Amino acid sequence: MTTARPQIAQDIEGHPGHYNNQAVLKVIQEKIMEDKDRRPFYIVHLDDIVNKHKRWVELMPRVKPFYAVKCNNTEPVVKTIAALGAGFDCASNAEFQQVLHHGVGTDRIIYAHPCKDPQDIKRASEEGVDLMTFDNEYELVKIKSLFPGTRLVLRICPQVNKGEYDYGEMYGCAADQCKELLEKAKEMTLAVVGVSFHIGGVCFDSMAYQNTIRLCREIFDEAKAIGYNFSLLDIGGGFPGYAVKGKPTFADVAKDINTALDEYFPKEENVVVIAEPGTYYVQSAFTLALRVIGKRVQRSGPSAKDSEQSYVYYLSDGIHGSFFFTMPSLVERLNVEFYVLKEKDKMPVYQCTLWGPTLNPPDRLAQNIQLPELDIGDWLYVPNMGAYTTVLATSFNGIARPELFYLASDEIEAELGV
Ligand SMILES: *Cc1c(COP(=O)(O)O)cnc(C)c1O
Repeated sequence: MTTARPQIAQDIEGHPGHYNNQAVLKVIQEKIMEDKDRRPFYIVHLDDIVNKHKRWVELMPRVKPFYAVKCNNTEPVVKTIAALGAGFDCASNAEFQQVLHHGVGTDRIIYAHPCKDPQDIKRASEEGVDLMTFDNEYELVKIKSLFPGTRLVLRICPQVNKGEYDYGEMYGCAADQCKELLEKAKEMTLAVVGVSFHIGGVCFDSMAYQNTIRLCREIFDEAKAIGYNFSLLDIGGGFPGYAVKGKPTFADVAKDINTALDEYFPKEENVVVIAEPGTYYVQSAFTLALRVIGKRVQRSGPSAKDSEQSYVYYLSDGIHGSFFFTMPSLVERLNVEFYVLKEKDKMPVYQCTLWGPTLNPPDRLAQNIQLPELDIGDWLYVPNMGAYTTVLATSFNGIARPELFYLASDEIEAELGV
């Protein structure tokens, strides 16, 4: 399955230096030498995923990771994470079937979708996938009729600043409605075993986790008064996949989460703590290579000098391919960075706009960024492209999705059999 066996530097945090990863760049060069006209492609280094897992276990030993499959469901990724012994957060029947296929036991799966397709609840019942989330009464009614014996986890709204993260209105029971919902569940004799939340989006704000963990404690206590003895806390996803300058690192966030756990869920209570990281595991393992397929010059005035000249480039991958997650124009916020593959260090840079390959106006990747002048056929690469990229790619305009090439060091291949 793997195409080369480079020794990849330990790049655990996937810090911005990641794009210097010589092994990955070397393979990109080789792929282009084989076929300079190839369609966009990814180099995936599985060692990075292994390192992430080890780092997680080291920094948050109390929190068992359940990888969120929806973030990146490519087979080698799922296989690697299964071999590492992590659990999985699945959003549908198809996802838990994929994971079960890799020999993962149902005890390593949480079906973490608060509003499930009834058909998928039936499938979960048949497979014995018996840990699932809910956040409203209608879901309880559905579950009562389709899988009354399952264990349930109450998904609550996280304590985040309004507007900062996206899930606030979509999912999660409001704090002041949890008691009533738990009473309903009790009346229906359903087994609620714990509380979950998901911050939604990459979160550099430890306070959001800390405050929500404190709220979970309150709900554990409310549940006790109703007659439930909760044993599971699920702190969701949202962990950064690489370090961003000036922002807290994963290590910082982990440290603060540990502090909150020790305060509100002391070890003696034996509450099982899990999380649902998606982005964290896969983001820095994927580097995308794409090329310039079209070019235009834009002049700001009739007698514009070179310095006022800007360029417009059309690239071989865009919003309808790997970059959907950047909609609407979140490239800067998300720190997507485009690098030129060939050495153009000493060349002057120009303002430029990057478009994708389709005919759809939203297909714009970046505006007002600085790059040396590029020619049609030049290649660019973008590091940290593992999260919500391949899973969302379409073939809109008949443009094929990027290819994927996987790398793993001998050690990792031997250790995991991937
Ligand atoms: C998408 C999702 C995750 C993963 O989120 P990341 O930000 O990629 O870590 C975890 N839990 C739930 C419920 C999700 O919907």
